[in-house]
Amino acid sequence: MIARPWNFSAGPSVLPEAVLTQAAHEMLDWHGSGMSVMEMSHRGSEFTQICDEAEADLRELLGVSDDYAVLFMQGGATAENAIVPLNLIGCGGQPRADYVVTGSWSSKSFKEAKKYGEVSLAASSDSVLNDGGKQWNAFTWVPAASDWQVRPDASYLHLCSNETIGGVELAQWPNPAELDAPDVPLVIDASSHFLSRPIDFSHVGMLYAGAQKNAGPAGVTVVIVRRDMIGHALPICPSAFDYANVARERSRFNTPPTYAIYIAGLVFKWLLSQGGLASIEAKNKQKADTLYGCLDQSSFYQTPVHPAYRSRMNVPFFLADPDLDATFLKGAKAAGLHQLKGHKTVGGMRASIYNAMTLEGVLALTDYLKSFEREHE
Ligand SMILES: *Cc1c(COP(=O)(O)O)cnc(C)c1O
Repeated sequence: MIARPWNFSAGPSVLPEAVLTQAAHEMLDWHGSGMSVMEMSHRGSEFTQICDEAEADLRELLGVSDDYAVLFMQGGATAENAIVPLNLIGCGGQPRADYVVTGSWSSKSFKEAKKYGEVSLAASSDSVLNDGGKQWNAFTWVPAASDWQVRPDASYLHLCSNETIGGVELAQWPNPAELDAPDVPLVIDASSHFLSRPIDFSHVGMLYAGAQKNAGPAGVTVVIVRRDMIGHALPICPSAFDYANVARERSRFNTPPTYAIYIAGLVFKWLLSQGGLASIEAKNKQKADTLYGCLDQSSFYQTPVHPAYRSRMNVPFFLADPDLDATFLKGAKAAGLHQLKGHKTVGGMRASIYNAMTLEGVLALTDYLKSFEREHE
């Protein structure tokens, strides 16, 4: 077996080794077909089986009802920032949508959506918060739902439920009835914590996730959309991005990213074999508690995010002395701990600990954190 380093990349990111091994075995001959999945017609019986099974397994994992279409699309969450308003901004009558901005990704979603209608800011954490005797910088916290300004006639309310760069997670999303906008469905960019915990769909109109963070390889975007919101696309919506077309053709309106769907399908089967999302959530909680616990124990390291909104998936942290950053990263790499450099807009370090990162990997990181501190404090 090849020694693989611990990969803390934010995305594309670590995949379960069992999935990679199975894909390697099936590379030249998928289930006696004599073909690689990459070589199959997207309309043939083999790929039809792969795609339908991926959808069925994903539905089972999420417990999502047939009121929702489950689509495999392309363009990543960035393209989805346009595809969402193109499809949904008119579904409530007026071309209106409201956005909550809690970091880099939701800022981008908000900016993109403005091209397509009357888009307004419901709430933003782009300012300093004073709380618990401390100051929290912009995009390290989430505004209280009671302060969100949601227009009752908005077609949807958009959130990013896990800001990958800032490491800010919204574990629960509000009930629109409590926001005085009971009929406004939530639209959620869940890219970087999708499948890390169970999802409550009761107020969700639409949810999307680029696969390469936690669900599979780059190239496929999962879209889950309430069927009654489909069919209101703006006339300028490209036909390949119209949810009505993609849903009618079961994700095969045009050639989908077949190999990426196959690998994501193997990840879904792996998650089912792990006991499903409640069980993976317990493991993720243990890993996050272990890492934050280690960082909290010492003033040598600092975490920027308000404790109520700490992400279980993406853990940014700083060394108290940034002059040690390069030494820290070099030593980490030598210890087999890769991709710990923080995003350039935040600086410092970031450890992404997705589903496929094991507790053993997190413990290797905490061992390194402790030994680096002993050497350099
Ligand atoms: C990575 C990411 C994106 C962008 O994904 P692309 O596939 O690069 O378009 C958008 N939103 C979130 C929350 C992400 O983590």
